[in-house]
Amino acid sequence: MSEDDRKSKTANPHEGNKTEQPTKKKPQSEKRMLISGGTVFGLLLNIRMLRRIVQIFFLIVINAYILGVWFANEAIVEFWKGLRNLLPTFPIIAPLEAPFAMIAGTFDTMQREFTRGIFPFFTLGAMIIILAVVGRAACGWVCPIGTIQDFMTLPKRTKIRPAQNTENDLRRVKAYIFFIVIILAVWLGISRILGTASTLEAILGIFARAPFDPLNPAYIIFVVAPGLNWPYDLNTLWYLQTFGPVVWAQLIFAILIFVVSIWVPRWFCRWLCPAGWFYGVFSRSAIIGIGRSPAKCTPDKCNVCETACPMNIRIRTYPYQHMYSPDCIMCLECKSRCPNDAIEIRLL
Ligand code: SF4
Ligand code: SF4
Repeated sequence: MSEDDRKSKTANPHEGNKTEQPTKKKPQSEKRMLISGGTVFGLLLNIRMLRRIVQIFFLIVINAYILGVWFANEAIVEFWKGLRNLLPTFPIIAPLEAPFAMIAGTFDTMQREFTRGIFPFFTLGAMIIILAVVGRAACGWVCPIGTIQDFMTLPKRTKIRPAQNTENDLRRVKAYIFFIVIILAVWLGISRILGTASTLEAILGIFARAPFDPLNPAYIIFVVAPGLNWPYDLNTLWYLQTFGPVVWAQLIFAILIFVVSIWVPRWFCRWLCPAGWFYGVFSRSAIIGIGRSPAKCTPDKCNVCETACPMNIRIRTYPYQHMYSPDCIMCLECKSRCPNDAIEIRLL
């Protein structure tokens, strides 16, 4: 039985009507109440604004070590280095070898430990605790790749939402990538312990160090791009010739992820990110989750939450009590857009 079939068995009584009805418009005065308020405090109370602020904050903090380098102050550099050693890995994607990295992604660290023949007990332990409490909130509020995609989605363009069957098929791709990456990482780790890794390393080439890195947009923009010799005037434009075909392919791939997000919100997270798939396995039954009020929700007449959801989750097909979707990133877009205030943050 497919994921969708299972959901439809437990869905609300209104879900038989799959036709997407015209969305209920929020009165102008009500909209204004959300975004005005006139004070910074008022803005912070707006969940969408708060999330943007938190996302920008973490985009800077993830590479905060750059602050120390900019200020060229030994004390600042030492402070960030000390802090970096104390922070756990976060369920996001962020490689710690980035020159200015402060926070490492769990998946990035995990695959590196496997390739060195180490079982990532502490990395996985911290990840499970975080995901069991707040679900994939780090994907929605912290991950730099999620953040950049979200900001690219802001311009008002028609958003593409594939049919549910197509969406489900595409979502499986990230699970396949996950298993390929982990099998290769474990295989590399075991062969390195046995001292027989040279042939495998030669076959894998750039994938031998950490198998997902060459395709990881966080690795491309935070490790590969800063390491390149970028032109700084017309006379140095020829530097671009030194990049090589692999680096060009990586840069184009990263740019493509962000540009396509203008029309397809979070498409990398939804279909390609192996880390997101793995985090979803442990976040499904998180203590803090999303539910709907049966008294307020009008699923036959309204689909605002679903059109607002960047992860293209069919929210109305889940039980009212708790939406157990592994794809929910706790961004709360559905909550802030629901005209009936029917979306609620629930404790399991
Ligand atoms: S699914 Fe998206 S937000 Fe989550 S780790 Fe992957 S890229 Fe980041
Ligand atoms: S269901 Fe709501 S909280 Fe979850 S990803 Fe979609 S919009 Fe965000």
